[in-house]
Amino acid sequence: MTRLSDEILEAVTAAIGPASEPVPLHRPFLPPATWKYVKACLDSGWVSSGSSVSEFENLLAHTTGCQRVVAAVNGTAALEICFRIVGVLPGDEVFCPSLTYVSTANAISHCGATPHFVDISKDRLSICPEALQNRLAEIVKPSPSGPMNRLTGNRLGAVCLMHCFGHPGDLDPIVAICDRYELPLVEDAAESLGSFYKVKHTGRFGRVAAMSFNGNKIVTTGGGGAIFTDDDNLADRAKHLTNNAKVSHPTELRHDEIGWNYRLPNINAALGIAQLEMLDVLLKAKRALAMKYLEMFQNIDRVRFIKEPVDSESNYWLNGVIIDDCDKTELTSTIGTLAVAGFQCRPAWEPMHKLPMYSACPRGSLTLTNSIHDQILCIPSSANLSPDWNKLTEKLSGTKL
Ligand SMILES: *Cc1c(COP(=O)(O)O)cnc(C)c1O
Repeated sequence: MTRLSDEILEAVTAAIGPASEPVPLHRPFLPPATWKYVKACLDSGWVSSGSSVSEFENLLAHTTGCQRVVAAVNGTAALEICFRIVGVLPGDEVFCPSLTYVSTANAISHCGATPHFVDISKDRLSICPEALQNRLAEIVKPSPSGPMNRLTGNRLGAVCLMHCFGHPGDLDPIVAICDRYELPLVEDAAESLGSFYKVKHTGRFGRVAAMSFNGNKIVTTGGGGAIFTDDDNLADRAKHLTNNAKVSHPTELRHDEIGWNYRLPNINAALGIAQLEMLDVLLKAKRALAMKYLEMFQNIDRVRFIKEPVDSESNYWLNGVIIDDCDKTELTSTIGTLAVAGFQCRPAWEPMHKLPMYSACPRGSLTLTNSIHDQILCIPSSANLSPDWNKLTEKLSGTKL
């Protein structure tokens, strides 16, 4: 019998071909037209603020169907502002998954609040509605300032749902729970540009959402992020706070509260425009790659390729498999086998409640989080590994300067 790691290596090789050079987990695609936008920005001299930022924001609004988009310096900063503008206060607790990138918990902490971890569901890897409901039933107590945790005496400030690897979380039931308990929903949509829950783009279900345009995401501005909302007041607030609380005035420089310098530089925005213009190509390429992986992993015992939920359309930002009964040792050795063959693979994040700074945070039962995090293997997911890549990109115009 072949070792599991050999079978996985075989499936990866069958899907994307042998690695003639090291294949990274995710590498950005900067289309030829990028050079035109970046050059225009450099030629204008407007590298910090400028029109590329609003162009980038408008394209994001158009892509997602969201009314208002405010660009930010990165996804973490965007998420922090999301929590602030929905009213998360120092001392509050904010529900979030433990299986997430550390930024989710950090953004909560930067507001002086504490993450309160709830379990995820196996089919979506994002917050499990039943787990959230059960935890709330266990701890919630109404108070004049809103729902509070009767065990800690802290106010409950918000719920943060993260769309894991780009796969939409279970929004309808989570929205219903948030409504029932009068908790604002913030979506950590950092990974889910191009992902739809039912017919609506992710990031449009909460009161606000944050996305990231870091170098490893589906669209990158080098570093960057954005805040999404349909609420004009919240959008104005986000714009104000991320711009050092600067008051609009023709001549004077005036600020009316303590703000943050969280603006996305114009040069970074310019970097992202060409990718947004061809997002449909990136999405098609990633879907074709995922379908190829799905096919190649079909017949391996113990291994299940992570598919989009049946009611949703995922951007397949990061492909992964779940290996039944895998432990850390087997996962590490599998990653080692793939690395030797030139494929960079990665485990899921170490759950937040296992990190020193978050180990004492309040939490519900984390049974699935604890069992599944050593069973997740993320595999190379760059769009250019797609079987359809050449066909999809042959018509892209623009030249390097
Ligand atoms: C990437 C990411 C972020 C943070 O984005 P940055 O732009 O790197 O600050 C937040 N949450 C999740 C889930 C992410 O994957």
